[in-house]
Order: sequence, then structure tokens, then C-alpha cells
Amino acid sequence: MTAKAMKPKVIDVHTHLYPPRYLELMRDRLEVPKVVRREDNDFLVILPGEDDIQNCTGRRMDEAYTSIESKLQYMDDSGIDVSVLSLANPWLDFLSAQEAVKWAIAVNDDFERLAANSKGRLLALATLPTSAGVEACLTELVRVSSHQHVRGVILSTMGLGNGLDDQSMEAVWKKLVELDYVAFVHPHYGIGNEHYADYGHALYLAMGFPFETTVAAAKLALSGVLERFDDLKLMLAHGGGTIPYLAGRLDSCVAHDESIRKSDHRPSTLLQRAILDSVVYSEEALRLAIEFAGSEKVVFGTDHPFSISEPHTILGTIDAIAGNNDELLAAILGANASRILQLR
Ligand code: URA
Ligand code: ZN
Repeated sequence: MTAKAMKPKVIDVHTHLYPPRYLELMRDRLEVPKVVRREDNDFLVILPGEDDIQNCTGRRMDEAYTSIESKLQYMDDSGIDVSVLSLANPWLDFLSAQEAVKWAIAVNDDFERLAANSKGRLLALATLPTSAGVEACLTELVRVSSHQHVRGVILSTMGLGNGLDDQSMEAVWKKLVELDYVAFVHPHYGIGNEHYADYGHALYLAMGFPFETTVAAAKLALSGVLERFDDLKLMLAHGGGTIPYLAGRLDSCVAHDESIRKSDHRPSTLLQRAILDSVVYSEEALRLAIEFAGSEKVVFGTDHPFSISEPHTILGTIDAIAGNNDELLAAILGANASRILQLR
């Protein structure tokens, strides 16, 4: 039986939008990240160093990147009941402090307004003015906490500039726990980029992105953040990168390095607390994600509107793994997200 036929609630926790005002900001820029106009089309040039990647001229943008009508149509076409919108990379990391504060307010208010007018179809994750420092981020978190449709934040692996394991993030983690918000960690910068130049975006997205998430998550475990903030709702993009696969090796390497061990917990025990999305494109990888995090912490996502987004492939992997287990199917498609995000 297909996911659609059973009609469990389907909630997409990993789906992006650039609000129209953000598109204008990107169009005005001369340096990466930027949007360039060629042959009557917008092209998104956002990856670090993308100007230098041979034969790579950015990604053609269609209205799916910016139009809420298009997002709702996509949801209808894909059988998605509710989407949790987040700003796509590169968020606001590249702006000056002053600009970041201004744009965080604009983007977060745009998302709240879109969600409020969506008749229950949309929720949102807020974006923080990371380059403006911790006080500005806390101020924005307090401000958005009165936005009824905001359920968390999307964070790059840079944190406030020095990584998610940096001391500067402590107060942010504390506030996120206090608000019971999801912290959705999403890659953008890539790791190992110097190896990918001859292959367009493929290796960058297939390898660099998940490696980036993997390292960021591992550092959250090794630095003690995940032990100190054991109630943190940490959600990792793309099934946690390679964490489910490499956590055992990480345990072993840490166990044999007395100098870095800060906790009695194995890193894998701490990382198993994370929520993982289903954007992995294979049954084997999704099965491993479920075994690692538990079936109550794997949530449906699509990564729309990026071109590699394949909702039907992702739904197919969930269907295949659930088989006749209706409870498991419903959990991954929406019940887990509903509980974690406190859908009312
Ligand atoms: N998915 C994203 O979220 N961002 C990208 O740049 C590519 C795929
Ligand atoms: Zn994404």
C-alpha cells in the first residue's frame, strides 16, 4: 500500500523558501552569494567559491524558490499536508551585523505572515542574525517567540562565526531549550571542497554537505554541548550526514584519545538523541538512520525546491521500510514531527 493511500498526516520538516524580499537582497549583490540574471532567468550562485568552479554558472531558479503558491501546489502534488518552512542557505551569515539584524526581522516576519495566512498548511523555522553576535540572536529569539507559527530555528554549522561548539553558542542553546525550539542544523559551506572542482555540484552536495553536518554534530558531542543541553531538540539535515554510519568509529577514536574525552558518555550515545530527517534517497541509509536514532526520531523532509529534491523517491524509501507497519509509516511521515514540533 502506498503512503498516499493510507492517508497518514504528512509533514515536511525540511523545505525551503526565499521570501521575495530576500531575492531582492541577493539580486543586488556582486559577490557570492548572489543571484545573477542571464537570458531572462535568475541563477542562484551561493556555494562558497562557486564563481571558480569550472563550467558552473549557478543554478537556474524557478518560482518554486520564492513563490508560496508554488510551494502549496508542490505540497498538493506530493501529498504533503503541512510544511515547516525554513530560509535556504546561505541564510544571513554573509551580512554585516546591522544588516543581519534587519534581515532576520524581515525574513522571520515574512515566514510568520505566510504561515498565519496558510490555513494550517505552514509552520516556520526562524533565521538568526548570526553575524550580529549572541545578544542580537537572543533578542531575535525572544521576539519570534511570540510568532505563533515558529517552531524552531535553522542554523548553519558556523554558528555565530566559530562553529556550533564554540562557547559563544552556549546562551543560544540555553534559550532554544527554554523555548522548546527545534535547532535544525543544515550544511552550506561543505568540507573537502578542494576535491570537487571538476564535477559540478555533484560531489559538493553529495559528499561535502553531509561531511559538514557530520563534523558539526560530532563536535557538539565531543565538546559536551549535547551532554549539557540534554533536552535540546537537535535536528540534523540529510539523515545526520554520515553520523549513523560513522558513530561507532567516532566512539572508538575518542575512547583511544584520553586527551579529548570530556564525558563518560560515548559520542554515539549523545548523538543518538538527535532527530534525523529522511532526505537520504536510499532505503539502506534510511534504515540505518532509523536504527541509529530510533523510529520515533526520524522525520519526513524533502529539501524542496532544490533540484536534488525527490519527494517521491523519499516517500518510496519510507513506504518500503514501513511495509505493513502502519504505525511506523505514520510516525515517520508526520506523527513524530507533530509531537516534536507540538502541532496543535
Ligand atoms: N539543498 C539545500 O538545502 N541547499 C542546497 O544548496 C542544495 C540542496
Ligand atoms: Zn535543505
